[in-house]
Amino acid sequence: MILIKDVYVNGKRQDILIEGNKIKKIGEVKKDEVEDVEIIDGKKKIAIPGLINTHTHIPMTLFRGVADDLPLMEWLNNYIWPMEAKLNEKIVYWGTLLGCIEMIKSGTTTFNDMYFYLEGIAKAVDESGMRAVLAYGMIDLFDEERREKELKNAEKYIKYINELNNSRIIPALGPHAPYTCSKELLMKVNELAKKYNVMIHIHMNETLDEIKTVKEKTGMEPFVYLNSFGFFDNVNVIAAHCVHLTDEEIRIIKEKNINISHNPISNLKLASGISPIPKLLKEGINVTLGTDGCGSNNNLNLFEEIKITAILHKGVTLDPTVIKAETAFNFATKNGAKALNIKAGEIKEGYLADIVLINMDKPFLYPKENIMSHLVYAFNGFVDDVIIDGKIVMREGKILAVDEEKVYEKAEEMYEILRS
Ligand SMILES: [Zn+2]
Repeated sequence: MILIKDVYVNGKRQDILIEGNKIKKIGEVKKDEVEDVEIIDGKKKIAIPGLINTHTHIPMTLFRGVADDLPLMEWLNNYIWPMEAKLNEKIVYWGTLLGCIEMIKSGTTTFNDMYFYLEGIAKAVDESGMRAVLAYGMIDLFDEERREKELKNAEKYIKYINELNNSRIIPALGPHAPYTCSKELLMKVNELAKKYNVMIHIHMNETLDEIKTVKEKTGMEPFVYLNSFGFFDNVNVIAAHCVHLTDEEIRIIKEKNINISHNPISNLKLASGISPIPKLLKEGINVTLGTDGCGSNNNLNLFEEIKITAILHKGVTLDPTVIKAETAFNFATKNGAKALNIKAGEIKEGYLADIVLINMDKPFLYPKENIMSHLVYAFNGFVDDVIIDGKIVMREGKILAVDEEKVYEKAEEMYEILRS
């Protein structure tokens, strides 16, 4: 059992009792009520639900800074894809550990990933103590032979993750995008999602160029095209980016209950554009936040995403009320949990114990009155303690489960292999 004493949570000072991987009680907990308990003094701290990053490619931590200030296609074709060709399970493992350390230190407890060499990713997630939804990224480039291979891999990884029997690691399907995946592949993905009861994670409408490609090929916008063959029917989908959307596409997103992963920093950095989030909110669509990979962000600090989301759309719409602080914060917590279908994202009795503590003794968190405002507009993202699935994974800034120094050393070593 873990007892967090006298912490500021859900608007007041109280105790949080954790038993197993769940929050057992919030309120006053007397010491004689509990046995075998580890006590965390929460007096100077606030507790928030662990953040949920709904779109990323974690091993790309190793691509941080290798190619900046380029258009998406040039960035992918000339830099990212050639480096990705050199990856292997070992490189991906160390890249993922580096990403897990970064996420834990910046208050993220769950991430939704699409990548390759999932054995390496799953191993690192397991060791770090994080929670993750992992999908193998499928790209068939309209080639039948490649399609069969990709589908086989995707199915193999779903089985592999299920067999790990680790409730923190959840399998998903990751068709890359409508401009890199054939209709046949996408139709099969819908079938597999229903067969294995897993969600689908896909890039949608990231750039005008790619939308043009889909339109030229099919005569339809990407969401209309996918909807025309039932891709969204009876499955749970997270669509990343969704930068450029027609009204018809927004109607489909609403009707099919598609979750949006808003990635404002990646979209700004690659000059892809700005997603019409206020419009989506008006329709009651579930908006969540993602960082995207470190090649295009270049970090995994979701607090930056929260702040940018809260201010960016004010500037675009010239309306300061359009996304309030708490709304942006909910994107990264409650809404993310809803999209990934996990009982987290809020500190509530019976919910998963994914809790982040922040020591308020930081110059930018004074005066202590308006905490939600500070979290969204003032905080730098460096948190103090992190509990995931009822286990302490970071205490007073120190990562417990993995050897940080060794990960940094290995990250450098792996980077040398990638750039050689
Ligand atoms: Zn992406």
